[in-house]
Amino acid sequence: MGKTKQLYEGKAKKVYATENPEEVIVSYKDDATALDGLKKGTIAGKGAINNRMTNFLMQLLEKNGVPTHFVEELNDRETVVKKVSIVPLEVIIRNISAGSFAKRYGVEEGIVFTQPTIEFSYKNDDLHDPLINSYHALALNLATQEEIEKIKEMAFKINEVLKEYFLSLGVKLVDFKLEFGRLSDGTLVLADEISPDTCRFWDAKTGEKLDKDRFRRDMGGVEDAYREMMNRVFGK
Ligand code: UDP
Repeated sequence: MGKTKQLYEGKAKKVYATENPEEVIVSYKDDATALDGLKKGTIAGKGAINNRMTNFLMQLLEKNGVPTHFVEELNDRETVVKKVSIVPLEVIIRNISAGSFAKRYGVEEGIVFTQPTIEFSYKNDDLHDPLINSYHALALNLATQEEIEKIKEMAFKINEVLKEYFLSLGVKLVDFKLEFGRLSDGTLVLADEISPDTCRFWDAKTGEKLDKDRFRRDMGGVEDAYREMMNRVFGK
């Protein structure tokens, strides 16, 4: 399976067509952006870590009954995935207060919720990904009622699987962002990535941040944090 032409270049990944119209190849970059694109940089080794970690987690989710776009890892940075049309929603699940939640509602970070929360943002760079509710998503025709129900169900299921898995590695899954896509027959599958770029990971003992917040907040030690998460997942 080889790349034919580049279809798209995003902030952290490139997407290429293949000979199979139902499959594309994603190529993960070391480029990082944050704060709505205002902050740009690179995190050495990030592309390979995010690629390998995403693929491992997608396969774990498949084993637990969650359909995903994963097909085959080609090499450190590149993976064959099913071609989807992305539902233009960022789906965020939170177990513990942090980031925009803490800021928006004026609470400290680290409050453990009795139940996880879900929220949606409209994926639209020009509008800066505004927070919306599911009625807004319906009004804007971003997804059908059935799709929204399915997305909620899948997202909470994914949270249960990932929360338990990361805790077994001594990591608290604070919050994360998911994206879903439709296959050519309309089936909804989990797409995009699950990595330290898209999740908040806190060491369960020390509370140390092991994710992109180290880059967003200029804390230093970003590469080490990504490597630490890689080592926990792949057991070095
Ligand atoms: N997130 C993401 N992409 C985005 C926005 C958020 O992957 O464009 C992830 C982020 O890494 C975190 C979770 O979603 O794990 C919640 O992010 P939050 O809303 O707190 O926004 P932030 O403070 O990171 O801007």
